[in-house]
Amino acid sequence: MIRSRAKCPACKKIIDFDKRHKVREFVTCPFCQNILEVVSEHPQKLDWAEDPLIVSSLRSRQKLY
Ligand SMILES: [Zn+2]
Repeated sequence: MIRSRAKCPACKKIIDFDKRHKVREFVTCPFCQNILEVVSEHPQKLDWAEDPLIVSSLRSRQKLY
């Protein structure tokens, strides 16, 4: 069941979630694997994740950069 959806700022695809994410939660886009941060809960909006610690650890694990 789709609970919420939001547009990926990187690949512009609509991501369907089975839960509603809270602001500042981090999600990974299933299409482009970019790390995104929830910036709005109603409606769900995503932006590039900006927390350097989280981003760098996730990026190194996924070998994105
Ligand atoms: Zn994406």
